[in-house]
Amino acid sequence: MKVPSNLIKDIRNHYVRELKSIYEANEADSIIWMLFEYYFGINRVKSALEPDLRLNESEILTFHFAVKELLNHRPIQYVIGQTTFCNLNIIVDKNVLIPRPETAEMVELIIRNFYDETGQIPSSRQDASITSMDVRYNFTPTIWDLGTGSGCIAISLAKAFPEAKVIACDCSKEALDLARRNAKINNVEVSFILDDILFPTVDILNMPVDIIVSNPPYVCNSEKIDMQANVLNWEPHTALFVSDKDPLLFYRQIINLASKSLTSKGQVWFEINEKFGNEIRLLCLEKGFSKVDILKDFRGKDRFCKAERFL
Ligand code: GLN
Repeated sequence: MKVPSNLIKDIRNHYVRELKSIYEANEADSIIWMLFEYYFGINRVKSALEPDLRLNESEILTFHFAVKELLNHRPIQYVIGQTTFCNLNIIVDKNVLIPRPETAEMVELIIRNFYDETGQIPSSRQDASITSMDVRYNFTPTIWDLGTGSGCIAISLAKAFPEAKVIACDCSKEALDLARRNAKINNVEVSFILDDILFPTVDILNMPVDIIVSNPPYVCNSEKIDMQANVLNWEPHTALFVSDKDPLLFYRQIINLASKSLTSKGQVWFEINEKFGNEIRLLCLEKGFSKVDILKDFRGKDRFCKAERFL
């Protein structure tokens, strides 16, 4: 540990320089600030206002070990055990994927779609600027999130639609334990079910359901070679990868399960691999969905599928 002094600015410069070996300068800088904030409650403003702020020996050691993990490509979200998703604090560990901005985009699309169709604003969105419209919220759908992981989708939908009945399932007990904690931290009611979408033992979707949402594993094994070490070496492979021989496995299974329980105006929302938009659209049409839209993410890639039933 060759930190030039115990002043925050020196510690910061030292570790940003180290982190630049694997991250862009801007990213290295913001990651180091995340560590300062997380461990010591020190942000840029506090540090600027108090230029003589220092860490003690043991604090520097804590910092040193955290940076060591980062240099090993461990994602910052796992190092500090949390991230932000749709303005919610979500805890994460090695058993769950780190929620992605694309997934937050899907949640936003689902919420906005509801608004467009009904002209109503979910109560959680009724901030000062829109309460004047005096819209009463009364959307009471049943929502299932299949393969919930950290619970981020289910929890943010439960937050947006407080009257909804939200049920989330996953085949990993560890993931569900974490998702339960996330629901509690964020003060929402979600029912969690331990089951495997591919080999359901309890009745997944055993009730009329209005919205089915899923971000299943969709990266092909053959795509591993293009992936970064921080994803490949640290995130759970069961949540990420599918066989090249049957990349739509989860989608087919979910569509099959959906056909018996989706209500007449029900919708299925998927996050998808950008390579398979067309195949997934055809799959949904083949299975009796009457309207299927493939939507792009903020990077312009085919990333979401919205399928509607209209019986
Ligand atoms: N979007 C994720 C990634 O690129 C994959 C998520 C998934 O497989 N469901 O790593």
